Amino acid sequence: MSNNSLDPDDWTAFRARAHEMLDRAIDQMSSAREGRVWTEPPSALKSAVPLPTVGNQTAADEQMTALLPYGVGNTHPRFFGWVHGSGTPSNIIPEMISAAMNPNLGGRDHGAIYIEKQVVSWCKDMFGFPDSASGLVVSGTSMATIVALKAARDRVSNFAARKASLPQGQLVGYTSTQTHSCVARAFDILGLGSDALRKIPTNDAFEIDLEALQHAIDADRKDGKQPFAIIGTAGAVNVGAIDNIDALADIAQREDLWLHVDGAFGATAILSDKIKPRLTGLSRADSIAFDFHKWLHVNYDAGFVLIRDEETHRRAFSERPDYLRGMERGVAAGNPWPTEYGPELSRGFRALKIWAQFVEHGTDKLGALITQNCEQAAYLGELVVANDQLSLAAPVALNICCFRYVAPGINLNHLNQDIVIQLQLDGIAVPSTTLINGETVIRVNITNHRTTYADLDILHDAVCKIGAQLVEGGAYATT
Ligand SMILES: *Cc1c(COP(=O)(O)O)cnc(C)c1O
Repeated sequence: MSNNSLDPDDWTAFRARAHEMLDRAIDQMSSAREGRVWTEPPSALKSAVPLPTVGNQTAADEQMTALLPYGVGNTHPRFFGWVHGSGTPSNIIPEMISAAMNPNLGGRDHGAIYIEKQVVSWCKDMFGFPDSASGLVVSGTSMATIVALKAARDRVSNFAARKASLPQGQLVGYTSTQTHSCVARAFDILGLGSDALRKIPTNDAFEIDLEALQHAIDADRKDGKQPFAIIGTAGAVNVGAIDNIDALADIAQREDLWLHVDGAFGATAILSDKIKPRLTGLSRADSIAFDFHKWLHVNYDAGFVLIRDEETHRRAFSERPDYLRGMERGVAAGNPWPTEYGPELSRGFRALKIWAQFVEHGTDKLGALITQNCEQAAYLGELVVANDQLSLAAPVALNICCFRYVAPGINLNHLNQDIVIQLQLDGIAVPSTTLINGETVIRVNITNHRTTYADLDILHDAVCKIGAQLVEGGAYATT
């Protein structure tokens, strides 16, 4: 009879090995500001190898070490693409502690559950939600949106939608053309169909047009549809626009609709003294979806859904089959369980890295870094406005600056797209692109606590240099 296990035979040797690997992880983080932003992964990394049948600890450690330089670049100060958080070295520590405890936060009565409860309670405070509200740590805003909109769908159908499908196209919701694609995807996943999400036009500041919204609701009611939700955005992906959440709350109240806010990165700007006054309407929402892994730099992944009405939230998800029955005492106590608030049963300890980020750094510093990023975006906007070769594509509303390199007689869509690709290939900076009023622009999103003003100067100079070189190459002439 053998007593095999996966534990090390020699704990002293394991300790030395783990310390060595921790050093390599710290080396990676401590050099995050140096070198290229992004390097294409080598072919050895891309090619598939057979599933190992015999273990090899050295191979595991060496291959993980070799992987370290091939991140997407979001820990580098000149990563400005999409909306990525830049992470913290200190978050390595809770990830280690979490792995050592290996808890399952589906439910039951154990220490990790109380850390998540603490995070939930802080989130209620942060957004001015009542104590009676509920919340759940999830993978990100996409998942948070599904959870929130399921609660909204189930409430309006008096929870009938949990058991039987609704008449196709009956329930409709409203959002703006600037809203993230995860909202339409949630409508799809929830069986509502993405067509049931009405895309309302925006004003010049890319905020939802309130009059157009009211007209759309009226038209749908006249048409026999059942409006059930408005989805506002606090920090839209293209330019960082913040919808007038207060006005949306008024409309939702009058029309008896669920107000959900996608605040993936923007909602956390409530920690910035400068931005907070623009986010006061959030306290009136029925639900908010947001990320810790973006502007609060918790290492991936960590999102959150906050829901005003705990009972609706729980009734939308609670399933307690016989084998998961709660108890008054013992390990199966601690009711209700987190699994009653979302689709997952087994859940990891994301809450610890969120908790640790708040405890170690505090909201003052996290908020000040958000303010700093907004000031940096405004600074880049000023550089753009002062330069004849560049043109600002939209006002800097928050932390995003969209602009173009301009030259006469040139296909600017192709040119600006190629400038972005060249910046990435050269490893200088990673902005991304988007369309503003149908035109391709260079989009610089700053959710990065490592970015300095000098990094923005480097970006600005590189855009001008690459733009001039490409124009000189002559490939973009339209005439
Ligand atoms: C990033 C983002 C999302 C999606 O969030 P994930 O965490 O990637 O799932 C949704 N909305 C906005 C505004 C975002 O910036």
